[in-house]
Amino acid sequence: MQTFSKKTAIIVIVVFVVFLASLFWVIIRKTSKPKVVIEEVEEVVEDTYQVIGKSVQGRDIEAYTYGKGETRVLFVGGVHGGYEWNSILVAYNLMEYLEANPEVIPESISVIVVPNLNPDGSYKIVGKEGIFLQSDVPSGNVSAGRFNANGVDLNRNFDCKWQPKSTWQSKTVSAGSKPFSEPESGALRDLILNKKPKAVIFWHSQGGAVYASQCENGILTETIDIMNAYAKASGYPADETYDAYQTTGDADAWLARIGIPSITVELRTHENVEWEQNLRGIKSVLQYFGGK
Ligand SMILES: [Zn+2]
Repeated sequence: MQTFSKKTAIIVIVVFVVFLASLFWVIIRKTSKPKVVIEEVEEVVEDTYQVIGKSVQGRDIEAYTYGKGETRVLFVGGVHGGYEWNSILVAYNLMEYLEANPEVIPESISVIVVPNLNPDGSYKIVGKEGIFLQSDVPSGNVSAGRFNANGVDLNRNFDCKWQPKSTWQSKTVSAGSKPFSEPESGALRDLILNKKPKAVIFWHSQGGAVYASQCENGILTETIDIMNAYAKASGYPADETYDAYQTTGDADAWLARIGIPSITVELRTHENVEWEQNLRGIKSVLQYFGGK
């Protein structure tokens, strides 16, 4: 009897210990939650340097971003390559200026600069990639540098009233096989659709005026505003329509079509950068969007 009760007591104790151990294990499991992996929240910072595409001959088409604001303003030079090399140097001047004077960019603004949309066209004339000096540009006829390496006028290759043949002054030029058939115009389209800039400013030469943009639906109000702001600040006259000759497939007209304000600034000459007056124009556009 005594043996039996001893046995029973041992069994009871063992069962009790096992029960306690199980309970303890369950409690431990419940209270020690799996470790939460804390991911560091990174600030969303724009890439300050981006290759947005390659030219026909494989040269990089580059974009540089300054400032951290949500409102993006895009500046584009070199659509007409080496023929309008001064439009490329305006863009490089701006990049240098923003690096040295970042405080001129309003807090709400990011400035994106594509200094040279047509690097094959500029290479043909200047013989250099990236930044160059005015002294690198040969004297003489540079008009062959206007086109990309397929012989296409890029400012006729965008999707507004596109035609396979278009005009440049009294000449007929190729506008490509369809809108955005060229890698250079495609790269700019993709950048714009991706970044959704609030406005796009193109530099060309040598119309000596600031032009508004339009496709089928007239001129956007903000286009008129920035045209007038840039014109007033720079001293170039403002012109609502480019009527020197009929063109099709213009880059800024495509922007009007998709509802993005855009102006074309035509420098006065093919030979000078006209930096100071363009800097005043640029600042007026940044103030226009940054002051809001
Ligand atoms: Zn041009």
